[in-house]
Amino acid sequence: EGGIERHQYDVVVVGAGGAGLRAAIAAHEAGANTAIVCKSLLGKAHTVMAEGGIAAAMGNRWPEDNWEVHFRDTMRGGKMLNNWRMAQLHAQEAPERVLELEDWGALFDRTDDGLISQRDFGGHRYARLAHVGDRTGLEMIRTLQQRAVQIGIDVFMECTVTDLLQDRSSGEGRMAGVFAYWRETGRFVVIDAPAVILATGGIGKSFKVTSNSWEYTGDGHALALRAGAKLINMEFVQFHPTGMVWPPSVKGLLVTESVRGDGGILKNSEGKRFMFDYIPDFFKAETADTEEEADRWYDDKKNNRRPPELLPRDEVARAINSEIKAGRGSEHGGIYLDIASRRTPEFIRKRLPSMYHQFKELADVDITAEPMEIGPTCHYVMGGVEVDADSQESAVTGLYAAGEVSGGMHGSNRLGGNSLSDLLVFGRRAGESAAAYVAGLGEARPAVSDEDLRAGQWSAVAPFSVDGGENPYSIQHDLQQKMNDLVGIIRTEAELAQALEEIEQLKVRAKSMSVDGHRQYNPGWHLALDLRNMLLVSEAIAKAALARQESRGGHTRDDFPGPNPEWGAKNLVVSLADDGESVMLNPQPLPPMPDDLKKFFD
Ligand code: FAD
Repeated sequence: EGGIERHQYDVVVVGAGGAGLRAAIAAHEAGANTAIVCKSLLGKAHTVMAEGGIAAAMGNRWPEDNWEVHFRDTMRGGKMLNNWRMAQLHAQEAPERVLELEDWGALFDRTDDGLISQRDFGGHRYARLAHVGDRTGLEMIRTLQQRAVQIGIDVFMECTVTDLLQDRSSGEGRMAGVFAYWRETGRFVVIDAPAVILATGGIGKSFKVTSNSWEYTGDGHALALRAGAKLINMEFVQFHPTGMVWPPSVKGLLVTESVRGDGGILKNSEGKRFMFDYIPDFFKAETADTEEEADRWYDDKKNNRRPPELLPRDEVARAINSEIKAGRGSEHGGIYLDIASRRTPEFIRKRLPSMYHQFKELADVDITAEPMEIGPTCHYVMGGVEVDADSQESAVTGLYAAGEVSGGMHGSNRLGGNSLSDLLVFGRRAGESAAAYVAGLGEARPAVSDEDLRAGQWSAVAPFSVDGGENPYSIQHDLQQKMNDLVGIIRTEAELAQALEEIEQLKVRAKSMSVDGHRQYNPGWHLALDLRNMLLVSEAIAKAALARQESRGGHTRDDFPGPNPEWGAKNLVVSLADDGESVMLNPQPLPPMPDDLKKFFD
């Protein structure tokens, strides 16, 4: 092992999106020697793609807004399955985190009075999303990255973590570091660190149609499981209602919800504005039931109720799905999203510059003149590592998770804009807790064993040792297709059971997959390593989806329509089975909400 590159830090953060960067800044500022490892180039995380904005009850447009209303909206959006304590901390701390970002140099759009502007989004009672045109994530990442580099945090980029290393001597398996490889050279690197913060983002690449890019293979979810941590809420996957459907090369690419927030409406092939037919009872009281009222709302929000296009994402995605299934879809199998007939070209180009260019360049569609064709796309996973709400620590000592890879905050469905704020609030908390834990350790640091180092190496090169096996691309292709077809937006018992059988077969095929060539820049090998994570995470999603016999948020069962109060009182906790290769489920009651918060839901 003399040949392995090795480094020592107090805290290592895996992932350089908003959560990872914010966590690293907090850990560094608390005095911990901190490094960030990221799979792609610094700045290329999902966070940079976030368009709409950061949800925070700053009250700049609506003085009535406050953390209590934001908390209530978040819990209702998640159909009450959220970890209430996380939802509370998130709503309370988001405004401070946005202001701090501004202090660090972020340039937000402004109101006429010079305050940070806030825009409307689905499920939020008041205009609440701080934004920078439709490029909010870019500004957020730019700001955090600049600060992280400025204060001297080390970054290992294009470096992929394949294993978490634990101290076996203590018996409890405390974190001791990470095992990774450099994408370019394929050489291994070990970072010894008593605290590891997972900030690896989502799992979207397990599905065929997705807004996610290649990095999102559920690595953090799988690493956590293998280390002995648990996942919750895995059955809840968010299908964003509006992804591009045409041309095929960009199918799934996101069309921001801001199009609807800024006046865009959904129409079927008959030209009907169909969302009025899909207002669920739960949201009737606060949703307009005529086009006239819905249209008045944009200018007079006090005296009118919100348009149904701005219902939470799960509701809108299901409605679109139903219209397409009923044969009222668009030419290329989507539905129409029309802002051209509702706003001036100048307004559209100013408010939605990226969308204008995206459609012009990729689909040759001028969105100021004609409607867009859109359809649901796999976007976000509510499920993730189960953590302590205040510290973000998992069940494994020294292992933390923040951002999309953590679970609990969003319950069964995330509201738009609540992810960027989640990253800032819990990224900071994770960084601070990790630094405090390390400070408390003194000299007695957990140690990586030689045996674990060898195991890390062995498992990373395993795909090279099979001759003539199947290539990982065909397995990935089949997995994505099956997940889309059988574990998608509408689910049934028979299809989920079939999905689990298919995943078992894919796992068998994956055991004998082989990759050619050597370790220098070898995408086939990288995929082979990612695929193990994708398979484990896909199994977790399908198993939890099969077990939860109700429909709630991002989980819709055709055979169990509607929520069931019994299921509404419990989480499904996923852990690694004894064979080390599959997952098992345990139902667990939700932590009870204290009365002073319960009162918001009477
Ligand atoms: P990410 O930003 O996803 O970053 C993950 C990091 O982990 C990356 O650096 C990656 O390279 C690294 N990584 C992954 N695996 C490994 C590994 N094995 N080893 C090393 N590094 C690894 N949310 C909102 O609130 N508002 C919005 O307007 C919004 N718009 C969105 C638009 C799009 C197109 C998409 C895809 C998402 C949008 N979201 C939005 C959701 C939000 O952007 C993401 O949920 C959020 O950015 C996730 O941030 P994160 O820090 O958890 O992880």
